[in-house]
Amino acid sequence: MVQRQLERRGIDDRRVLDAMARVPRERFVAEADRDRAYRDGALRIGEGQTISQPWIVACMAMLLQLRGGERVLEVGTGSGYAAAVLSRLCDRVITVERHPALAERAKQLLRGLGYANVDVRAGDGSLGVPEEAPFDGISVTASAAGEPPAALFEQLAPGGTLVCPVNRDGRELLMRFREGEEKAVVPVRFVPLVED
Ligand code: SAH
Repeated sequence: MVQRQLERRGIDDRRVLDAMARVPRERFVAEADRDRAYRDGALRIGEGQTISQPWIVACMAMLLQLRGGERVLEVGTGSGYAAAVLSRLCDRVITVERHPALAERAKQLLRGLGYANVDVRAGDGSLGVPEEAPFDGISVTASAAGEPPAALFEQLAPGGTLVCPVNRDGRELLMRFREGEEKAVVPVRFVPLVED
């Protein structure tokens, strides 16, 4: 997976490649999908949601340019896989999932696998987590309509990076926002960010 899907397709951050090699992706998918866990695609994880394709997880992590000491917010825990990858790249990950059942499952799994620096919360992540802000990096793994939620910009530390898929003009693009500038990175397909 690391060589064929990631290195060959432009993921050149050593720390990200190392994290992707170490997190056991098969543990984050349904038992029936274990033999497909390292394929180049997304997989269903219940509640109508999906675990993202490995390349997307690596790309989003790389865009945050983490060095090890950061506090990161993830919106859309899903299986907990991307949170596990991020947890190997920074100091602390706070991740929010709106489906309580998914949040609980991810929490147990991450705890069982020893990812002690990940804090899983159930709730509406589009509001951020004000009491834990500011965040050096924010990764949104569901598509926002037009713009990422304003609360997330407010909770970003100066010089911090927000990565979020955005639906605009009928196109869905992974965007990076940093220091008032935005950059479209790649066309993507995510489930919608539900703002409750
Ligand atoms: N990062 C996940 C994949 C996420 S799929 C992984 O590694 O497995 C997107 C997730 O975002 C879904 O689980 C969906 O329920 C969640 N979601 C959508 N809108 C949300 C919101 N407003 N707050 C929190 N989670 C949300």
